[in-house]
Amino acid sequence: MTKTTDVVVIGGGVIGSAIAWNLAEQQQQTLLVEKNQPGQEASAAAAGLLSVASGRSKRGPMYHLKRASQQLYPQLIRELEERTGIDIEYQTVGVLDLIRTDADEKKYRQLYELRREQGYPATWLSAEEVHRLEPALTTELRGAVHFPSDHHLHNGKLAEAWAQAAAQRGVILKTGATVSEARITGNKVTAVRIGDEWLSTNTVVIAAGSWSRQVGEIFGLTIPVEPAKGQMLAVRATPVRHVIAWDEHYLVPRKNGEVIIGSTVEFIGHNKDVTLETIRLFIERSEALVPGISKVPLSRFWAGLRPYSPTRRPILCRAPGLENVIIATGHHRNGIVLAPITGKLVSELITTGQTSMSLEPFALPREPLPPPAADESPDEAE
Ligand SMILES: Cc1cc2nc3c(=O)[nH]c(=O)nc-3n(C[C@H](O)[C@H](O)[C@H](O)COP(=O)(O)OP(=O)(O)OC[C@H]3O[C@@H](n4cnc5c(N)ncnc54)[C@H](O)[C@@H]3O)c2cc1C
Repeated sequence: MTKTTDVVVIGGGVIGSAIAWNLAEQQQQTLLVEKNQPGQEASAAAAGLLSVASGRSKRGPMYHLKRASQQLYPQLIRELEERTGIDIEYQTVGVLDLIRTDADEKKYRQLYELRREQGYPATWLSAEEVHRLEPALTTELRGAVHFPSDHHLHNGKLAEAWAQAAAQRGVILKTGATVSEARITGNKVTAVRIGDEWLSTNTVVIAAGSWSRQVGEIFGLTIPVEPAKGQMLAVRATPVRHVIAWDEHYLVPRKNGEVIIGSTVEFIGHNKDVTLETIRLFIERSEALVPGISKVPLSRFWAGLRPYSPTRRPILCRAPGLENVIIATGHHRNGIVLAPITGKLVSELITTGQTSMSLEPFALPREPLPPPAADESPDEAE
């Protein structure tokens, strides 16, 4: 291992890999430190939805960040697949948001109109039209909105390909390792200890997902991120072609003949248990959307820990009081869609001191935040 480097990135999920990949392109000597193997935590656990048009953010900074990130995906996928030979399973069929109640109708009428104004393709479908597209769906629905520009991919393969491609660009991957101590002089970190070795560095990036609070403590920082558990299961069947979403529940078809079913949002610490109660809930909800699905074989179940920030936005900023430490975490339910733009902006911040989009809305909060208003998403600020 080199004894000095330009940047140490802590955490090898999609966020750390995205940052390292962009830094390597800018000729920054980068060490990516991962306590296990890259991409095995939240980044592997996700559903892989790149939701913007069908997403919760309507027109504020989160919406613009997602939109910018989504636009980077096609070129990124081509490059990662070409370099690594990994099929990331980028699928372009889009999302069908089902309409079953008056409340759905009101919510999706507004969203449909807004997205059309913003230039997204969106189609309002009658129940008959939905059934022509997806014959396995329940007849108990009024229709759906189709958002064809919201693609999805295999997030586990994305994470694997990104870490590999970053290494091919010259990033040094240090796996099975953690940063345990830091030397700080004035308002700068000068070196970090990894295992038995001290390494001098110009910059440190904290991208440790739901463990960012603990990593922050090594640098004397308070990063208010906590784990938000999401349980998932997969069945061996492909009754649907599109992503099907209704009322917090989704079914995501994968190329390997599985459908991924999710998810929950639970604040119970670093706990990745899957419970029978949740499996039962998923079966009931899925059966209501796709009658007969409860008879197909269960292939896998798992849980992942999303990095939740009380700002309900990612935290992308210089650490207070430490000018060469960057925090890049708190992506909660949007880390897969937001990884490309996060990698780009953090790399710009490090290499030029400027960013092509304002990071002001993604700062650490100076004071406690008020709870979300009744009409706001509990998970995501605008
Ligand atoms: C069930 C579920 C469904 C989701 N679905 C979607 C979706 O459809 N679309 C979407 O955009 N997002 C989705 N997400 C959210 C997305 O997965 C996360 O926001 C994203 O993966 C966060 O990436 P990360 O790199 O910050 O965290 P992680 O992937 O958790 O990576 C953090 C890494 O840091 C490492 N680490 C921790 N501590 C240390 C240390 N001390 N030293 C070194 N390394 C350390 C960990 O081992 C880990 O590999 C979902 C998440 C879950 C759980």
